[in-house]
Amino acid sequence: MSYNRPYDRNESVSVSCAFYNKIGACRHGEKCSKKHIKPTRSKTLLLANLYQNPKLNKNESEPILPKQLQETLDQFYQDVFIHLCQKGEIASLVVCENENNHLNGNVYVRFFSADDAGRANQQLNQEWFNGKPVHSDLSPVTNFDEARCRAYDTDSCERGEMCNYMHVRQPTKEIQIKLCQAQEKKYLLKRIEKLKWTLKEFEQEGGGGGEELEKGDSQSNSVTTNSLLEQLS
Ligand SMILES: [Zn+2]
Ligand SMILES: [Zn+2]
Repeated sequence: MSYNRPYDRNESVSVSCAFYNKIGACRHGEKCSKKHIKPTRSKTLLLANLYQNPKLNKNESEPILPKQLQETLDQFYQDVFIHLCQKGEIASLVVCENENNHLNGNVYVRFFSADDAGRANQQLNQEWFNGKPVHSDLSPVTNFDEARCRAYDTDSCERGEMCNYMHVRQPTKEIQIKLCQAQEKKYLLKRIEKLKWTLKEFEQEGGGGGEELEKGDSQSNSVTTNSLLEQLS
């Protein structure tokens, strides 16, 4: 006696979509035959179609010069970086300028902390940016280098809008350095502030007591100070 598996059982065995997993977006969207498994926790967020690529502005009669493209991107990158770094310390930020629907203007931000990313995701979905409502989602992308189109970096991608990899435009080096330094300073100051508070609390708790207690306190004092200093390194 033969046994045939029900048809829908075979359907449910479909594999997860490699494009969605690696690039965070797939041209078939919700109609994809493979599974798009959204993470429930991630350090990466996708802000879909947030960047308005001037190349796609059909109202422009004149072609846009590369210098203008770079200036527009630089301004946007700076604004979005400053906005996002208030929500958590940014590990990387990329802006796509693909000329297709599923990657066009996508912004990917990877935070150092998944908690910060989760909080930022909730906040961003209530916000507007540059006159547009923000659509934020937790993304499975972990490595932007693997998701990027290498050929586009050297202006030699021949797939054009059919390319399924990220076409990333980098901000000007000086802007990137300036933003990273500003962020480092902000978070260093935050850590120092936290350290000061913890020490102050410790000093308040540690005052008075007998000889034995004082000895114990001075030991734990040095342990606490060392562990706090580690936070600054
Ligand atoms: Zn897919
Ligand atoms: Zn490409």
